[in-house]
Amino acid sequence: MGANIIDGKALAETVKQEAAQQVTALKEQGITPCLAVVLVGEDPASQVYVRGKINDCAQCGIESRSIRLPETTTQAELLAQVKLLAEDPAVHGILVQLPLPAGIDEKAVIDAIPPEKDVDGFSPVNVGRMQIGEPCYLPCTPAGCIRMIESTGVSIAGKQAVVVGRSNIVGKPAAMLLLAKDATVTVCHSKTRNLKELCAAADILVAAVGRAGFVTGDMVKPGAVVIDVGINRGADGKLHGDVDFAAAAERAAWITPVPGGVGPMTRAMLMLNTVEAARRAAVR
Ligand code: NDP
Repeated sequence: MGANIIDGKALAETVKQEAAQQVTALKEQGITPCLAVVLVGEDPASQVYVRGKINDCAQCGIESRSIRLPETTTQAELLAQVKLLAEDPAVHGILVQLPLPAGIDEKAVIDAIPPEKDVDGFSPVNVGRMQIGEPCYLPCTPAGCIRMIESTGVSIAGKQAVVVGRSNIVGKPAAMLLLAKDATVTVCHSKTRNLKELCAAADILVAAVGRAGFVTGDMVKPGAVVIDVGINRGADGKLHGDVDFAAAAERAAWITPVPGGVGPMTRAMLMLNTVEAARRAAVR
């Protein structure tokens, strides 16, 4: 195996220390950043994610509020809960854990989170601001990907970057952030014809497909930086990325593992966004 591993866990600890230092500074000004996390239903994976976010808050000195609502919650009830949090000046960030139970319109819920408390960076206002390069909350997963690429010391500017996947929460914003860093960006999706060739020419390859082992070794350019966003639970019960790690690591210069890659970084970036939300609330 030739590639260097981008250690998402270690990098996430550094980012959380950064957040913790900023929290200390804010507390000296009498401000305690606070994140409200809303979980509807009993989805086991969501419960694990929410627990992780609450623990991260504690580690960074951020106050957290965990709001658990039953599976039977109606959209109106959830919207009423979000409104309460939106109007509460002590709450700086609101995160509604997705996916929501069937029957609740995710878009309506995201739209109900005021942009200044949208620490997930999913609201149309934040997406639009990101697009035109205005200050905003960057979506945590793509922002974490950029931070991981930058941690390698490989410069993004002028590089050929290929993003596989075009979802609103990962693929599209990842492409946009790479573009903002002056990469030449290609976005691939299920209708892309020459996907293998495009990937094999990428200096920076971001895989956000949701299919275990989708990116095979021959799709990795020798010396590339490979960021594996995928989280796929295999029949073996283990987590697998979208990249065939062993084969890709033979060719890449840098690669992220799964688990221990993009996942922990996503959570760490949420802490930074929450601190930023508290800072902005203080100057409004
Ligand atoms: P989506 O299912 O929303 O999007 C998947 C994308 O992959 C789509 O754009 C789809 O194309 C594309 N795609 C699917 N099959 C193919 C194919 N055969 N060839 C080319 N493109 C294909 O997933 P997400 O973006 O939400 O998530 C992607 C992965 O990242 C998942 O494994 C998810 O669990 C993981 N994830 C990890 C996070 C983390 O913190 N590490 C955070 C969020 C997600 P099309 O648009 O044409 O359908």
